[in-house]
Amino acid sequence: MTPPAGPGPGDEVRAQVAAWLAEAWDPELSLAQWRDCLADSGWGCPAWPREWCGRGLPAAAVGVVAQEFARAGAVAAPEGVGMNLAGPTILEHGSDELKRRFLRSTVTGEISWCQLFSEPGAGSDLAGLQARAERDGDGFAVSGQKVWNTSAYHADFGLLLARTDWDVPKHRGITYFILPMRQPGVEVRPLRQMNGYASFNEVFLDRARVPAGNVIGEPGQGWTVALTTLAHERRLAPAARRPASGSAGRAAEEAAEETERAMAPYRWYPQRADQASVISLTISWRTSGSVSRPAAMARSMTRSGRPARCGYQR
Ligand SMILES: Cc1cc2nc3c(=O)[nH]c(=O)nc-3n(C[C@H](O)[C@H](O)[C@H](O)COP(=O)(O)OP(=O)(O)OC[C@H]3O[C@@H](n4cnc5c(N)ncnc54)[C@H](O)[C@@H]3O)c2cc1C
Repeated sequence: MTPPAGPGPGDEVRAQVAAWLAEAWDPELSLAQWRDCLADSGWGCPAWPREWCGRGLPAAAVGVVAQEFARAGAVAAPEGVGMNLAGPTILEHGSDELKRRFLRSTVTGEISWCQLFSEPGAGSDLAGLQARAERDGDGFAVSGQKVWNTSAYHADFGLLLARTDWDVPKHRGITYFILPMRQPGVEVRPLRQMNGYASFNEVFLDRARVPAGNVIGEPGQGWTVALTTLAHERRLAPAARRPASGSAGRAAEEAAEETERAMAPYRWYPQRADQASVISLTISWRTSGSVSRPAAMARSMTRSGRPARCGYQR
């Protein structure tokens, strides 16, 4: 006989977050105001440490919290490279100064991120990367080329791997930097895919400046730090997307705009599950004009009828 269901391990957390949401969630707050509440309370990233915008809860609590946010129709922390890769990497390897400078503004969505790992000659063989960072005054100057960089065109900061030592085995000469993207030494060029959209970018670095304080971990230990990022990235693939809030009000509307901007490149990923439909719809529309375009595709069109440059603007 099945024993009567008692309280489960997540029930206490569920009750706590539900009570907090009942008190705090106000759809008429601006997104910035609401995200400040999330960062202050720790409910935006419950598995992060309490001193860094979290609540120090086990990873298993994250799903419970997400369910309660969805139930309340409340807006969550932003999706993407910032919360999923940059935050965990800085938490594990970054100095307190880096945590102070970057974690809260990532949770609030004030800053956005991209990943600058892959290069034309360093994909699977990532440790063979050739981007070069040289000491330059109180920082580093980085030159080289990156590729397949999702969302690089709208990111404020890039998680960058570059070689700082050419005289040691390849895994030991890499340093992990936080690169400010909006500077003259950084040029982002969208890569057009066969389906007509530009989900990825190339990023050209020409003596781009990185302050010395923007190194995550120690110089030369970038490979170890990169393994943390890659481990989190691997976990992302099967993870369920956070449910949309489905809520009305100012914060939700601003969050919907944020999501639309951030998720546009992913919609047209070439390996998307229903890739065939994307390609066939695009071809049919281009050849006969007879197929009605998906709403999202229509939003990405320019007035000339060509797909837009995926929001590319610099
Ligand atoms: C959807 C998507 C988003 C991405 N976003 C980003 C991003 O934001 N930032 C970023 O830095 N990178 C990104 N990447 C790049 C990605 O992480 C990999 O680095 C990249 O796809 C692999 O490199 P490559 O395409 O040059 O392939 P290659 O490394 O050239 O590999 C091509 C093929 O050869 C095989 N192969 C390679 N080496 C060997 C070998 N020694 N023996 C046998 N077979 C081998 C590989 O398994 C593969 O099948 C993204 C990739 C995808 C698919």
